[in-house]
Amino acid sequence: MTDPDRLWDGCAGALRRRLGEAAWNTWFHGVRPRAFDGTTVTLAVPALLIQERIETSFLLAVTEELAAANAGPVVVRFVVDAATGGLDDLEADQEGGVESDGWADSQRSDAVAHATTPGAPAAPGRAEGLNSAYTFDGFVTGSSNRFAEAAARAVADTPGSAYNPLFIYGGSGLGKTHLLHAIGNYVHEHFPQRRVVYVPTETFLNQFIYSIQTKALADLKQRYRDCDVLLVDDVDLLEGKEAFQEEFFHTLNTHFHRSTQIVLSADRAPKKFLTTDDRLRSRLLAGITTAIEPPDLETRLAILGKKAEGINIDVPAEVLEFIGANIRDNIRELEGALIRVTAFAILNQEPLTLALAEKLLADVVASNLPRQVTLELVLHATADLFGFTVDDLRSPSRRRPLVLARQVGMYVCRQLTDHSYPTIAREFGGRDHTTVIHAVSKITGLMAERRQVYDQVEELRRRLQG
Ligand code: ADP
Ligand code: MG
Repeated sequence: MTDPDRLWDGCAGALRRRLGEAAWNTWFHGVRPRAFDGTTVTLAVPALLIQERIETSFLLAVTEELAAANAGPVVVRFVVDAATGGLDDLEADQEGGVESDGWADSQRSDAVAHATTPGAPAAPGRAEGLNSAYTFDGFVTGSSNRFAEAAARAVADTPGSAYNPLFIYGGSGLGKTHLLHAIGNYVHEHFPQRRVVYVPTETFLNQFIYSIQTKALADLKQRYRDCDVLLVDDVDLLEGKEAFQEEFFHTLNTHFHRSTQIVLSADRAPKKFLTTDDRLRSRLLAGITTAIEPPDLETRLAILGKKAEGINIDVPAEVLEFIGANIRDNIRELEGALIRVTAFAILNQEPLTLALAEKLLADVVASNLPRQVTLELVLHATADLFGFTVDDLRSPSRRRPLVLARQVGMYVCRQLTDHSYPTIAREFGGRDHTTVIHAVSKITGLMAERRQVYDQVEELRRRLQG
């Protein structure tokens, strides 16, 4: 099948049921299928912020439902077309992404969510910020995460009374964010009257600064205090931000007084941070703290099996074993390796064999103790590969070949380092973080479409890791 409308019509119903009416109406109302070549589908969205939200929250669900409708794997890419959904007052995309003020962006995206979520905020059963793709059903357990998962389930079963706060910590890519959303989704489904809010600390912080500037602090406070389950991700970012810690503490205190549930995640144990505020620390330590460790081989294989099933592609056991045996510390990377080999096989219509996986993942395997790739190194390697200077990459110029080089560089930064979108954006000449989000999505799409782009990314990866 290569009819984009048929493909989209075939999955829209299931997707709508899966995400719920509110999310569907808010984010998918203006989405239109544009092109489909049997493997890559292009979806037109009315604004960049809608694309961002779909990518960060619903991409797995979209990919899975498309794959089901197509009876085969589908690669999704987006184009922004302001004419699509009648939202022309929102900014339209430009070639290099939108360069605008980040605080204003996050505020605008909230405005959209509120304007179109029926009845918010007075209606019961609100669920804010949840990614419906992250559920307990999709979470594979093993000795590394069994306790964390059990604690998360206990909290989801009896919010506010089992463990409060629940504090989950562990390294990057080990499933913290997944568990937070799983709790939220479970509560939303089983206790429809409860109000659930998920927020990354970075978003909270940005909104906090913005609301001080616009004197809208009261609204913000209301928003995070007036809920039954508050899920705050990556609270290690609070470190060193005293004014914000203070505000955050008041928010938590409201919840402690009302016995509403708080769940927090961080990359390290709570004893080791927030040392400046003793009250907050003792409150935090009064709940239960649980760690997630890197998964053992058996768990890694189970996770790979589950992900392969989800994207509807047959991967030989020996390929899964090869990936599982060689990527140990980060489940996001585990998924990344699986996507890399399956995308290559689809793109080249080659059978997915062990030999192919070994060839494609040689760099990952060789770098079991990977050389620390820095943003600076990526910038230099990108400049070299494309024949520009680092200053060119950081400059405001939007000349076409330069834009592509910059986007490839941003994509590779995202792949090979743990830095956030805003940090990468700063390194590339102080751009807005939405530019990086746009670049990652653009290159992800182009890699499955243009051999040259795929090769450029792989070459950079080889130079940086090999
Ligand atoms: P963290 O927040 O700890 O950095 P995430 O929750 O974002 O990590 O997880 C990274 C990726 O790995 C996500 O796509 C998530 O679904 C997946 N993942 C992590 N742990 C598991 C697990 N136990 N089972 C299935 N998928 C997992
Ligand atoms: Mg996370």
